[in-house]
Amino acid sequence: MNVESLTQDAQQWEILLRSITTHSVDFLQSLPERPTSVASSVAKESLPLLPERGLGATNALAEFEERLAQKIVASSGPRYWGFVTGGATPAAIMGDWLASVFDQNTQATVGQGDVSAGIELETIQLMRSLLGLPDYFFGGFVTGATMSNFTCLAVARQWYGKTQQFDAAKEGIKTPIPIFSATPHSSSIKSLAMLGIGSQQFSVVEVLEGNREAMNVADLEEKIQALNGQPFILISSAGTVNTVDYDDFQAIAALRAKYQFWWHIDAAFGGFAACSPQYKYLLSGWEQADSITIDNHKWMNVPYDSAVFLVQEKHQVLQTETFQNSNAPYLGNPFENFSYLNFLPENSRRLRALPVWFTLKAYGKEGYQAIVENAIAMAQAFSQRIEQHEAFALLAPTRLNNVCFTLGNTTADVPAFLHRVNATGKVFMTPTVYGGQKGIRAAFVNWRTSLEDVEKAFTIMEECL
Ligand SMILES: *Cc1c(COP(=O)(O)O)cnc(C)c1O
Repeated sequence: MNVESLTQDAQQWEILLRSITTHSVDFLQSLPERPTSVASSVAKESLPLLPERGLGATNALAEFEERLAQKIVASSGPRYWGFVTGGATPAAIMGDWLASVFDQNTQATVGQGDVSAGIELETIQLMRSLLGLPDYFFGGFVTGATMSNFTCLAVARQWYGKTQQFDAAKEGIKTPIPIFSATPHSSSIKSLAMLGIGSQQFSVVEVLEGNREAMNVADLEEKIQALNGQPFILISSAGTVNTVDYDDFQAIAALRAKYQFWWHIDAAFGGFAACSPQYKYLLSGWEQADSITIDNHKWMNVPYDSAVFLVQEKHQVLQTETFQNSNAPYLGNPFENFSYLNFLPENSRRLRALPVWFTLKAYGKEGYQAIVENAIAMAQAFSQRIEQHEAFALLAPTRLNNVCFTLGNTTADVPAFLHRVNATGKVFMTPTVYGGQKGIRAAFVNWRTSLEDVEKAFTIMEECL
């Protein structure tokens, strides 16, 4: 093979990786001051074509730095409070970098020539231990909570089919599947669409009174009784995105004695309350769920993209029926010839567990308790500022780490205000609608956020009024 640029690059690993180290350190140190948004638009006509000759890695980096690097925003910085956006811990970045260097394909069979799936299983064990979940949960890595919800609900679909004498994976869905949820995340609805269940095929359970997003379990039970014994799937929430509300898992667990259902919990970021002795009561009873979604690129502060699904081991046959790769027949006991590709949507995958392994080993349970409790404290501090200022008003009590608020003057233009704030590039938040009112959401999950950041952001908001 004679490609000059590639041959040359292969002779200077050290120079290339040192230059990228310098670039990375500059970026990471600039994060607190780097803009949280930039004016940037992409016109399709002006997108460059690929030249015949390559530039070589050094020149590619130079061009990137010249044209694009400046536009990379501080979404992993301390004042990016939009969506629910985590940062990346130092150890997580090390693990992520190595995942690229090692370039493993984690579909490989455990014990047959490589350790990548073994690292994944070990990392799932670390996560169960962090979250206080029993070892009857089998888990694996996917790209985000959307794919985790998809994976869990796919197994739920298979479970439901078996109760009605059809095999959903093989034959498709033969009869509509009853689904209940109170405040599902949009990605669960999207998963119902992708699974052929149908995004409109779910019944909305009432929420509790008193500015809550949690399910009214009494209403759920009435709806269950109307099914006359028909099984169903329940999608419950551990941390809704607007107000971080939690369904009552003890009450839901009590229903299991009476009714037959698959219980899924979307605990994308709210699951991390388990890291704090003070807040873990919110999850009490969650270990009885059939499946749980956890996002790592939010509160765990590992780089995108990373999430896990946790499904009870007793459902492993259903799971392999759903995800079995037809060219790789699944043979009997899932742990003999175990291969992740028979358990989740992707076949080939990067060694996505490695950043999580690194950050958990590096900071331990006490590190994650501190990260979680700091984020909650920052949200509470920001929430107090909002409450004490007449120009602002909370839309809901700040239960944990998200602040959902609006402008005090009810005729004010909330989107225009938020636009002014975000355009400063010094803090970033996202719009929301809560209780029919236009609002703003500030989500605190980044390990770097300090009280100084809260004060800085609040001052900017006052200036933008
Ligand atoms: C963020 C989020 C999701 C979707 O997660 P992605 O990582 O964006 O795929 C699902 N559920 C909840 C509760 C979330 O907060």
